[in-house]
Amino acid sequence: MLIDSYSRKIDYIRVSVTERCNFRCQYCMPEKPFSWTPRENLLSFEELFKFIKIAIDEGVTKVRITGGEPLLRENLDRFIAMIYNYKPDIDLAMTTNGYLMPKVAQKLKDAGLKRINISLDSLQKEVAWKIAQKDVLNEILNGIKTAQRVGLKVKINSVPMKDINDGEILQILKYGIERNIPVRFIEYMENSFANSSLTGLNSDEILGVIAKEFNFIDEGIEAGSPSHYYRMENGYRFGIIEPHRDDFCTHCNRIRLTAEGYLIPCLYFDEAMSIKDSIKAGDIDGATEILREVVKNKPEKNRWSEVNESGEISQRAFYETGG
Ligand code: SAM
Ligand code: SF4
Repeated sequence: MLIDSYSRKIDYIRVSVTERCNFRCQYCMPEKPFSWTPRENLLSFEELFKFIKIAIDEGVTKVRITGGEPLLRENLDRFIAMIYNYKPDIDLAMTTNGYLMPKVAQKLKDAGLKRINISLDSLQKEVAWKIAQKDVLNEILNGIKTAQRVGLKVKINSVPMKDINDGEILQILKYGIERNIPVRFIEYMENSFANSSLTGLNSDEILGVIAKEFNFIDEGIEAGSPSHYYRMENGYRFGIIEPHRDDFCTHCNRIRLTAEGYLIPCLYFDEAMSIKDSIKAGDIDGATEILREVVKNKPEKNRWSEVNESGEISQRAFYETGG
């Protein structure tokens, strides 16, 4: 079992399979990076899987595939099948922008994928276009529909931003209610790669909008999830991910692996260790030691407050770490 220095059990790994993306979301990657990591520097599926096996053997029970846009990596179903076949009861999930989902949903489901989070920031074609800097709405909505049709459990992620999509919180929520898809609003997290003019809504502001039309009760932070959940009178649950809250890290159970093999203990922590050389050399003991070391060094809290005090913002790119 992996326990960090603050007695938190680490049983969840997020694996970014590529930093590349077919969108240019304003809050994540408004410009194409000066250069992408050359493909030959990325770990192969076999290499990533070698490390995931170690993590599972050490006590990880939940694996989420993310990116960049994970569906840009070819034959992703092959990678999913490797993980599923090793441990069929693993909680195997993916976060995607949904654009390519219609083409691959059935293959991913057949390979063993169980759950999927799709990002939906607007239900208006022009607004979705402005955020992703591409005409994406129809494809995203088709992606959500197809994922549900093939039997994947679907959640929606949405980042409300002032004067961009903050007028659509209720519409997006109603879209989720009508389809029985939980919506999770994510507080915008400042970072140096985002469009600097953006301002996010905090959880109180988001709840204030929802409270104008719905009654709900606070169910608290869900175990093993970053999300604070609320239940409406009709039973529908929605969530808010509140990284600005002081106690956000208290229940953190996750670490992150990038496509290049960096193991990152916290989204807002710059120290990372590479498992690449150990994995390439077949040194399972070495990679296991690195995993234990990274877990041991997991910080108590993200560096949110330090970032605010010094006036600097995070240099950690969401499209590398997978959010
Ligand atoms: N491309 C996939 C997608 O968009 O769902 C997966 C990677 S993306 C980095 C993972 C999640 O991070 C998405 O739900 C996205 O909305 C969220 N995200 C990215 N940048 C963010 C930011 N600055 N603040 C809050 N959430 C962000
Ligand atoms: Fe791509 Fe996802 Fe980042 Fe948008 S949030 S640019 S879809 S990686």
